[in-house]
Amino acid sequence: MILKIETGSDNPILRKKSVRISKFDKKLKKFAKQMIATMLAKDGVGLAAPQVGVNERLVILNFQLGGKKSKPIPLVNPEIIDASVKAIIEEEGCLSLPGIFGKVKRWKTVTIRFEDETGSPRALELEGLNARAIQHEIDHLGGVLFIDKLEGEIREGK
Ligand SMILES: [Zn+2]
Repeated sequence: MILKIETGSDNPILRKKSVRISKFDKKLKKFAKQMIATMLAKDGVGLAAPQVGVNERLVILNFQLGGKKSKPIPLVNPEIIDASVKAIIEEEGCLSLPGIFGKVKRWKTVTIRFEDETGSPRALELEGLNARAIQHEIDHLGGVLFIDKLEGEIREGK
C-alpha cells in the first residue's frame, strides 16, 4: 500500500514534533513496510513518518551502499550522537515540498543511534548522501523542513 504524502511548508503535521516509539509490535512492522513501499514508489532517498501523516519517530533510509543496490531500512527513534567537524553545503529537495530545491549545510559524517523494528539498539556511522539524508529525516521528526535552513535562494525545478 502506498501512503499519502503530506505536503506544504505550513502543514501542521509536518510542523509538529514527533513522539518516541515504545511499542515494537506487528503494527509498527506493517507501517515500516508501507513507508518503504511509499518511499520507493516516490523515488525518495528517505522518508519520515510525519510525511505520511504520523507524528512518531520512525524514519526510512534508502542506503546507498557504494555502487551496490540501495537497501531501505527502518530506523526507530533515531538520534545523532556524534558528528564530524566538517560540514558540506549541497542542494536538497523533499517529497513534502515538491518542485523546490535549495542548498543546506549538513555534517559530512554522523554517528547515529536508533532501534530496529524489534526494539534492539543499534548504531551506525554514515557519510555522503546517507549522512545528509538522515540529518534531513531527523529534522522532520522535530517539525523542521530544509527550507528553514537554506543557504541562499530556493530553486524551482523538477
Ligand atoms: Zn523531507
